Amino acid sequence: MEKRKYPSYLNIKDFGPIIKGLKSLLKPCRTCPRECRIDRFTSDRGFCRTGYLPKVASYNLHFGEEPPISGFRGSGTIFFSGCPMRCVFCQNYPISQYVNGNEVSIRKLAEYMIILQRKGAHNINFVTPTHFVPQMVEALSIAVEMGLNIPIVYNSGGYERVEVLKIIDGIVDIYMPDMKYGSDEMAKRYSGVPDYVGINRRAIEEMFRQVGNLVIDRNGIAKRGLLIRHLVLPENIANTETVLEFISSLSKNIYISLMSQYFPAYRAPEIPEISRRLTKEEYDYAVGLLDKYGLKNGWIQPFSSY
Ligand code: SF4
Repeated sequence: MEKRKYPSYLNIKDFGPIIKGLKSLLKPCRTCPRECRIDRFTSDRGFCRTGYLPKVASYNLHFGEEPPISGFRGSGTIFFSGCPMRCVFCQNYPISQYVNGNEVSIRKLAEYMIILQRKGAHNINFVTPTHFVPQMVEALSIAVEMGLNIPIVYNSGGYERVEVLKIIDGIVDIYMPDMKYGSDEMAKRYSGVPDYVGINRRAIEEMFRQVGNLVIDRNGIAKRGLLIRHLVLPENIANTETVLEFISSLSKNIYISLMSQYFPAYRAPEIPEISRRLTKEEYDYAVGLLDKYGLKNGWIQPFSSY
């Protein structure tokens, strides 16, 4: 019997049908839940403001991710420009909202992966890949021919079409989505997404079905699995309890990164209720909810009000 290879995408014998299926999503574009239905081959007028060629803001080794993702040699981060969301507090707004970056060929994107692998990256970490999934997978297929053999991390805002996730089943090793909100009203008000909660939850369920719980090797490096991020917002705008309750209903073993690092970026300084950092009480309350729902795995951040 043929031995299965690792990472799992190395077992894919023919990327062709997968790429074909994904590319058909670009015209009319249904790559993300916005379903703008524009022709991405000729237009960048969709909600994400990107066209066909992948637009990349940066590619480098990143040491600021969660410990099993950054490891000791860094995570090979490839940061895509544009975003299907409109978070008014986005810390990366020049990239996500102003779409700063450079269009590159699919082959160049593959070369970035190889460069990062040669630099020692533990993984290839695609940041905000949702609107570039077809291009990402096509580039991956080229990178595999060039010798790529490290895990793929899918690092997104968690606003994903399950239909698309199903197509890439077996390609992504580590899903690292946000669960930003537990309320559609808040998601609409602060991120311009009216249907976030249901779509986000279905996406998380599918990701968990595909990759299961986070597997960390004896060197402390993540190999496979789900890691959910939740940024605690001022005034309980993220509805943290609702989010954690949902996660605990899936599995109490899921790894969660509960983040305290909110600061009022982009448009947030003009919006009174989110124009400040978290208080210690707000973050402590969120940390207490991890205990309340029996969620033991993951990371909390040291609180600083600086
Ligand atoms: S990927 Fe972009 S163009 Fe396509 S549906 Fe989403 S926001 Fe619209």
